Parts: sequence; C-alpha cells; structure tokens
Amino acid sequence: MIPVSKPYIGEAEKQAVMEVLDSGMLAAGPRTAKFEERFAQVCGVKHAIATSSGTTALHLALLAHGLGAGDEVITTPFTFIASANSILFTGAKPVFVDIDPETFNIDPRQVEKAITPRTKAIMPVHLYGYVCDMDALQAIADRHGLSIVEDACQAVGAAYHGQQAGSFGTGCFSLYATKNVMSGEGGMITTNNEAINEKCRMLRNHGMKRRYYHDMLGFNFRMTDLCAAIGLVQLDRLEEFTARRRANAAYFNAHIESVITPKVKAGYDHVWHQYTIRVDGKRDRDAALKQLSEAGIGTGIFYPVPAHQQEYMREIVGEVSLPVAEQLAQEVISLPVHPQLSQDDLETIVREVNKL
Ligand SMILES: *Cc1c(COP(=O)(O)O)cnc(C)c1O
Repeated sequence: MIPVSKPYIGEAEKQAVMEVLDSGMLAAGPRTAKFEERFAQVCGVKHAIATSSGTTALHLALLAHGLGAGDEVITTPFTFIASANSILFTGAKPVFVDIDPETFNIDPRQVEKAITPRTKAIMPVHLYGYVCDMDALQAIADRHGLSIVEDACQAVGAAYHGQQAGSFGTGCFSLYATKNVMSGEGGMITTNNEAINEKCRMLRNHGMKRRYYHDMLGFNFRMTDLCAAIGLVQLDRLEEFTARRRANAAYFNAHIESVITPKVKAGYDHVWHQYTIRVDGKRDRDAALKQLSEAGIGTGIFYPVPAHQQEYMREIVGEVSLPVAEQLAQEVISLPVHPQLSQDDLETIVREVNKL
C-alpha cells in the first residue's frame, strides 16, 4: 500500500530526541526557544509562539484578539473541525460562508456579505497548502476593522505574491505527525504584533509572567523540548520537502487525465499538503476509493462532512446551505503526494487513477 501520508523520521530526528533525553530537561526549554526563533524566520515574522497543537494555537490566537461570547468569526466550513471548534472554545460563534470551487478556499465575496455588527474576525484556512486570496480578505478586514487569524495549519512555507502564510494576520500552524513539518504533536502562532505575542505567551502558561504570580486565567498549552527538537530538524528540511511535494504534484498534473486535477493561480506558491482530485459525485467516489484501495493506493477524504453539517454544529449555527462546500465534500479524493514517494509510486498512482 502506498500510504496517503508518511512522516519523515530520519537519523537526525532520532539523535535530536536522544540529546534532549540525555539532557534531562524535557519540558519547554532552550530547544523550544530556538524552534520559535527559526519558525519566525521561516515565516518572515517577528515572533513565533510554540504550543501543544494547531488547535491550541488557534484557540490562543483568537483569545489574544479578544474574541469571546457575543462575537462572530467568519470562516470556511470546508476544513478540519479544529478551525471552527477553536472559535467555539472562546465563546464566539463561527459564521460559515461558501468556498471557491477552484481553490477549495473561502470565497471573499461571501465573506463581505456575512459581516454583521457582531463580526470581529475572519479566519481564512489555507486548505491543502494553498493560501487564500489574501488581498481581497485583507481589504475586507481593513474596511470593517476586523482581525485576521489565519489557519495555516496545512500551509507552512506557502506564499501569496511572495508573502508567507501566517504573516498576513496572526498565523496558526500545526506540527501534527502528518503535516508538512511535524513534531509528533505541536503548534505555532506567528505574529508581528507585540501585544498579541505577549498575550499568547501568558495564556499558554497559566497567565504567568513572574513565576507563580498569575495575571489572568490561562492554560497549559506548552510545547515540550522533545517535540521542539524534532521540529527543528524538520524545519531545516522544509525547502527540500516542499520541492519534492511540488515535483510530485507537477507530475500528477502533467499525467492525470481521467479526473479534475487541482490548478494553481499565478502568484500563489502552493505547498501541496494534499493533492486533491475531484470525481463526479459520491457514487463515483465510492467506486474510485474501492478501485484505488484494491490497487494498493492509499487515499484520504478531506473532508467528508463540512463543519456546518456536523450534528452538534447544526444546533449552534442552525440550518445553513453552502452548496459548493457540500458538493465538494462528496467529490474530493486526496492522493499520496508526500516527499517519500518514489518514481515507481508516482507512475503507479497515475496509471491507476487514469483507469478510473
Ligand atoms: C491539522 C489541522 C488543525 C489542527 O491541528 P492539530 O495540531 O491537529 O490540533 C487545524 N486546522 C487545520 C486546517 C488542520 O489541518
């Protein structure tokens, strides 16, 4: 079976973890600080704040922007549920708007229509590693005085007109095992704003600046040095990982003819966290998944149920109709595109997909 994702764990990662174990200092320490510094550099921002996951990064970033009960955050339903859940954790309400079928990302025209007096922020999700239309979203945010909290969990290294994902608003990244850069579990917040940086650091560590003096209610959302050690090694290889993903995606785009393949508009640097094709509806997809599985090709459905249609979410947001997201949820299939695919794997995938 060619797996749909495969974390890269080399000798350098193993050695880095052993060094932390030998040091006897496992919790957040020097490696976490160094990882933050390097991550900020990679994203072209002043500050990066390491957290325990992408979910806790989103949660802290929203709290730092002052989100709470009575506020609304406009976001996409076509994402991992953590995007919307992090909004709910603050007491605010997610307002879901439809997506652009070409990019799978939030449609800026729908965002503007959904603004109310309660809207405080926009959460664009750079799905599959494809940055959202940030010019349009930033213009809307500026016009209405809204914060932007980017869910860049799938988009480390991605860019739009040369600007890095996570540097438009407050950026949130995941370092979960299958992400383009991983640390097992982990997250990162990126910002140029001093106040947001400070607030995130306090909230991450029980509202504490001076040891055991607590200025506010906070959490334990810290990273460990064990995770940071892995992340540091991985970050050094980001360019190489991304180049391989891009080469794999380019090979698929050149050779897959049987289904709709993903197109990238000019000005966007996609990092291909997922390579996602579209087939003609759920029936075709069920058949395609079976056929690919029998041919030894791993696949993923990201995501089969849009956030606004999850049972508990319906009770919060009511009945909402978002036809593009609902249709794509029935049509998408993600193929393996990770850096560890061989030429043989690529050829097998193309051959089998072209039989669909
Ligand atoms: C992975 C992911 C998250 C959550 O990250 P965790 O590290 O798993 O908590 C949030 N949003 C998106 C789009 C993701 O892909």
